[in-house]
Amino acid sequence: MEEKKLGWAVVGLGKFATEQLIPAFSDCKHSKLVALVSGSPEKAERLAAEYGLEAQNIYNYQNYDTLKDNPAVDVIYIVLPNSLHAEYTVRGAQAGKHIMCEKPMATSVEDCQQMIAACQKAGKKLMIGYRAQYETYNLKAIELIRNGKIGKLKLITSDHGRPLKPDQPEDKWRADKKLAGGGSLMDIGIYSLQATRYLTGEEPIEISAMKSSTPGDPRFKEVEENINFTLRFPSGVLANCSSSYGFFEVKRFQAFGSEGTLTLDPATDYDEHNLTLKTDAGTEEIKLNGNNHFAAEIDHFSVCILENKTPKTPGEEGLQDIKLMMAIYEAAEKGQPVKVG
Ligand code: NDP
Repeated sequence: MEEKKLGWAVVGLGKFATEQLIPAFSDCKHSKLVALVSGSPEKAERLAAEYGLEAQNIYNYQNYDTLKDNPAVDVIYIVLPNSLHAEYTVRGAQAGKHIMCEKPMATSVEDCQQMIAACQKAGKKLMIGYRAQYETYNLKAIELIRNGKIGKLKLITSDHGRPLKPDQPEDKWRADKKLAGGGSLMDIGIYSLQATRYLTGEEPIEISAMKSSTPGDPRFKEVEENINFTLRFPSGVLANCSSSYGFFEVKRFQAFGSEGTLTLDPATDYDEHNLTLKTDAGTEEIKLNGNNHFAAEIDHFSVCILENKTPKTPGEEGLQDIKLMMAIYEAAEKGQPVKVG
């Protein structure tokens, strides 16, 4: 018997939506792509033809609210520049749809709170697209650490970097503070922050940070290039994280325990993951059957809706990261540690 599939509308047909998310629906068991929302009719028509969608299921930003009259759409997936997440989540919830929103959830704490309130008021669910929490190697790393494979966890280091290229369409808005909300921290440093939270299972209590941009580099007139931050957790674990729009592709974390070291490098790549465990017993490369984690996170939300459960990464999870990132910026501005929590 065919499983029930919920209908999804994807909003914003940019690089991530078209290259990763939309193709992932073919690996979904509980979710199907039924509608597109775009400012570019040509692009939407081309994709609709490619994915066999009906022309009547193509929307734009002006008639977005009429999604409320389309019973084929159960969920709206917002894949727009960061500062637009709040408006389209609120309007989507008001149209009576469940909302999946990309990271970072929004560009202010107030916007996150409005998004959560709008979904609650509409009786709809809200999930943030934290794909690493649905990815096999990251889940294995969490399991190994929680099961004491490296003894007592002491320190995490996590680094995320890539060169910003504002001549590419997907990076143009990332150099614009109004649309991006901030620089490398909001875009990729968030992966370092997330990793420290899901590996420890704790919330930080104190943050210190330092930021810099290469003097005269025109890419960083509005947003930061580099930001390093240190987090203190209640158990005594410390985390040293870096985030950069300057250095070459890095997306890794390392967990140091009293009896071993776990390394996932890359940790948050779309495809590649290398997991190494080093203990007294030697060094082990752990090989797993990787999953399509885009499909896994999409299906997770559909199943939560079908079974009326709270998703693993709800709006509150996104709000917590925004609160912490604002504290990281504050600590960097003040040059002093900031207490959180
Ligand atoms: P893109 O610029 O490639 O796509 C954004 C799309 O949003 C555009 O193509 C456009 O679609 C639409 N849009 C509407 N208004 C604007 C505007 N004013 N300026 C620019 N675009 C606009 O960006 P990405 O796909 O890289 O990122 C989109 C979101 O996804 C971001 O929030 C980002 O953080 C997140 N992301 C998450 C990743 C993850 O691994 N979880 C990875 C990459 C991105 P259209 O032409 O159809 O209107």
